[in-house]
Amino acid sequence: MIPYGQQQISEEDIAAVVAVLRSDLITQGPVVPRFEQALCDYTGAAHGVVVNSGTAALHLAALALGLGSGDWLWTTPISFVASANCGLYCGAQVDFVDIDPESGNISVTALRQKLEMTPVESLPKVVVVVHLCGYSCDMVSIQELAEQYGFAVIEDGCHALGGRYRQQPIGSCRYSDITVFSFHPVKPITTAEGGVALTQRKDLAEQMRLLRSHGITRDPAQMSQNDGPWYYQQVALGFNYRMSELQAALGVSQLARLDEWWERRRQLARNYQQELQGMPLQLPPEAALESSAWHLYGVRLHPALDRKQVLLELRQRGIGAHVHYIPIHTQPWYRRQGFEPGDFPQAEKYYSEVITLPLYPGMSDQQQVEVIDALVEMLSSPPHHTQPLPEIEQTPERGGNVGPGGGS
Ligand SMILES: *Cc1c(COP(=O)(O)O)cnc(C)c1O
Repeated sequence: MIPYGQQQISEEDIAAVVAVLRSDLITQGPVVPRFEQALCDYTGAAHGVVVNSGTAALHLAALALGLGSGDWLWTTPISFVASANCGLYCGAQVDFVDIDPESGNISVTALRQKLEMTPVESLPKVVVVVHLCGYSCDMVSIQELAEQYGFAVIEDGCHALGGRYRQQPIGSCRYSDITVFSFHPVKPITTAEGGVALTQRKDLAEQMRLLRSHGITRDPAQMSQNDGPWYYQQVALGFNYRMSELQAALGVSQLARLDEWWERRRQLARNYQQELQGMPLQLPPEAALESSAWHLYGVRLHPALDRKQVLLELRQRGIGAHVHYIPIHTQPWYRRQGFEPGDFPQAEKYYSEVITLPLYPGMSDQQQVEVIDALVEMLSSPPHHTQPLPEIEQTPERGGNVGPGGGS
């Protein structure tokens, strides 16, 4: 099966982890801060707090921004559930803003309208924007609204490490308070499990660092008394969200290859974009080609096509196509909070049509040709159609060579 995504683990990665295993410090030591510094150097953020998952990073980010009971967090329905759950962990209420049908990202127009219609006392304290598939949201417009309406912005960049926005690496936090990345194995780099919260603000970084480790401090300046060298004080209610040295060593080693992988992801995306022209599909925006991190390659099938049938048949042919995402507000848990199908129509339409095609740095040209050929063949044959299709233009030079680019 050609998977939809897959990690790359090299001998260097393995050696880096083994070196930590042979050292004295395997949980907290010198490699965690080294990984944090490397992430800051890559993105341009001033501070980095690595943790044991992207979800933990979202939770700490929301807490550091002061989110609590009586507050609102808004996000997009087309994301992984963690983008919304982080608000609920803090005791806040969560609401959603519908998506832009071109990019799948939060719609700035819908956000502006919702802000205009919302009474002052119910305006959001935090808005979590998600760079879906690795393609940045319109951060300049979002920052303008944040200033006008006084909310904080978290960028959920779990898909987007390596991507760029206006020439700057995503994660620079130029247009937001905090950016969060995940290092789960399908994401742009991996530490098996892991995540980071990046920020330009020292106060937010310090708060997240405190909460990452139980809310415990050993800093005499923060303690009301000091009984001796063994002494510490718990000054806030925190968690154990620490990343281990083993994971950080893997992260440092992986990050060194991110740009090379990003180059390969962009090449694969360009190939898809070129070879799938003229099919009954809505492809990602051309503007994404050079800037997106290309964590995922999502296409929308023409509404006359049977998405489930297409996905099942791709899987039968050994192609691990997937769907990202089920709208969060339609999950049973969220339904019990009062959300209903129909609440966010663009998100629901997106879900009914979208399919994720395989894309990862180790994918060979040959594997991509297999995917393209299978899809083109299926989309040209009637059983996948629930209704007759409008005329499909044929692209003349399809198939065979998908252009330059590395092998596996
Ligand atoms: C993966 C992901 C998360 C959660 O990250 P974990 O490291 O798995 O906790 C959050 N948001 C988005 C958009 C993701 O893709």
